[in-house]
Amino acid sequence: MKNIKQLLKFMKGNAFTYFMAMTAVFFATVTSLLVPVVIRYVIDDLIGGKNADASSWLATMTGRSLLGACLVIIGLTLLRGIFIFLKGWASALASERIAKKIKDQIMNHLQHVRYDFYSSHDTGDLIQRATSDVETIRKFLAVQIVEVVNIFMMVGVIAYMMYGMSPKLTLVALSLIPIIVSFSFYFFFNIKNKFKVCDEAEGKLSSVLQENLNGIKVVKAFGREPYEIERFEEVNSDLRNKVQKLIQSFACYWSISDLMCFSQIALVIIFGSIWCYEGSLTIGVVFAFVTYEGMLLFPVRILGRVLSEFGKSLVSVERISEILDTAQDNEDDGHLEPVIKGNIEFKGVNFGYDENREILKDINFSIKAGETIGILGPTGSGKSTLAYLMTRLYETTSGTIEIDGIDVKQVKKQWLRKHIGLVLQETFLYAKSIQENISIKHEDVNTDQIQKAAKVATLHHNIMEFEEQYDTVVGEKGVSLSGGQRQRVAIARTIMAPMPVMIFDDSLSAVDTETDRMIRSSLKKSYGDTTTLIISHRINTLAETDRIMVLENGRITAFDTHDKLVAQEGLYKRIWEIQNLVGLEDLGA
Ligand code: ATP
Ligand code: MG
Repeated sequence: MKNIKQLLKFMKGNAFTYFMAMTAVFFATVTSLLVPVVIRYVIDDLIGGKNADASSWLATMTGRSLLGACLVIIGLTLLRGIFIFLKGWASALASERIAKKIKDQIMNHLQHVRYDFYSSHDTGDLIQRATSDVETIRKFLAVQIVEVVNIFMMVGVIAYMMYGMSPKLTLVALSLIPIIVSFSFYFFFNIKNKFKVCDEAEGKLSSVLQENLNGIKVVKAFGREPYEIERFEEVNSDLRNKVQKLIQSFACYWSISDLMCFSQIALVIIFGSIWCYEGSLTIGVVFAFVTYEGMLLFPVRILGRVLSEFGKSLVSVERISEILDTAQDNEDDGHLEPVIKGNIEFKGVNFGYDENREILKDINFSIKAGETIGILGPTGSGKSTLAYLMTRLYETTSGTIEIDGIDVKQVKKQWLRKHIGLVLQETFLYAKSIQENISIKHEDVNTDQIQKAAKVATLHHNIMEFEEQYDTVVGEKGVSLSGGQRQRVAIARTIMAPMPVMIFDDSLSAVDTETDRMIRSSLKKSYGDTTTLIISHRINTLAETDRIMVLENGRITAFDTHDKLVAQEGLYKRIWEIQNLVGLEDLGA
């Protein structure tokens, strides 16, 4: 019921268009049902010369001539064509409008859901909901919904017209219909599972393909081509088998259903002929009945399908509602927009992505504005998580984070993110020009500003070596940037505007030590009074910061200057020894 309500909500604003479509369906039905009436008149009255009623509308319309009757039939068919066109046009218009509205709503919502939503939802699944689920609804709204009205109208009007001609033959003509309808229901409701199995197999096929194409470098580097081909062939044959079974089921259905339909027509012919022979019916009536029967059977046979499509659409509506019902970022947003200086304090912060596993445990520290802090810790110790919490991509489970003495929960998220620059560990670049990638956050920037940011990130001279310089397109169809170049584009993007707090999450891992040092010194020169947090595995980088936080297994195990940390036993000293002893400073922690 809830889903039907939601579907109606999606359809809101299209009542008039649907009304037009339904009216067109009504007239299309009436005009097509009038044709057998004319034919009956031709056979019985014009050719048979029986009980000719000179005042009937048919007599007037046809002028009591065969040619007139032909013209009336052609006219009715033409009118029917126009109404069918109007129906198609109106329902397509409405359904496309609704589909667009749903897609826009999903996109809009997805942009504003909380970030943690994405850790519990598969991207492929979300894409499917935003595309094929919407498509299921669109198809239902474009074709089926009008079809339902059409079928019920057809059945009602045909039964009424038949009854007017001969009540007893009507009984015969409708005798097998309940069986045909039940069979169609039975079939289409059972076939749903087979469709689902095929959909899943198809989804599997595309994910194998997608994974392969995305990871083609790994495939080639490890010589995994034969394995990949085999894996693809496996899912491909699985899909073929399942589709084959589906097609077989359909073949069975249509043949059995055909048999029943022809039996129904045969019954009409048999009883019609007998009663005709006895003189209680005319040939024209029997002919009209056979024509009506033909018109009636097809819609009746697909009734099951239409209703099962309706069921499918409701499932899609539910899947889309699941997205639209998730909480949005702004629902728990703060309201303050304070001037941010860059003092940061964590007070007893605990956090876990899910309830069962705590990632950060009792984190307490404070950083003064303008300090440069290094963060070291084994992989998985919670360094990136710490950075996410500061910008409220995730919320603390308990404890508070304060910025200049204000709880970050009271600060508007957008405001916070505007003032805390975070260079993410994983670089994402759009398939656009370097210039656009750098200035993505800002609308009205000039080339000077972009170049300045690129210079601070020591990327400028690299870019100038490209043929198209700042207009070089990055990504699949453009130039492939090296890992270090990509990281520096991401850095340039973040430092486009000076911010009171900047966090670099392992952002210099892919550049050599020399470049690393250059970037840091140019950052210091340009943004010296910014509170800077540098997450790194490189001791040389960390050694130059004011203080270093050591995170182990979600806890702070040390937080001191480089000199003090190398003087005491612990992770920092061990890594410092490894990286300096052998002179392999890039060894990593
Ligand atoms: P690295 O040095 O490898 O970048 P890290 O210290 O940055 O490691 P985090 O990314 O903060 O580590 O991850 C800390 C822990 O949280 C890891 O054990 C990881 O498995 C887990 N984790 C990270 N992201 C999620 C997530 N979205 N959902 C569930 N668990 C997560
Ligand atoms: Mg990390």
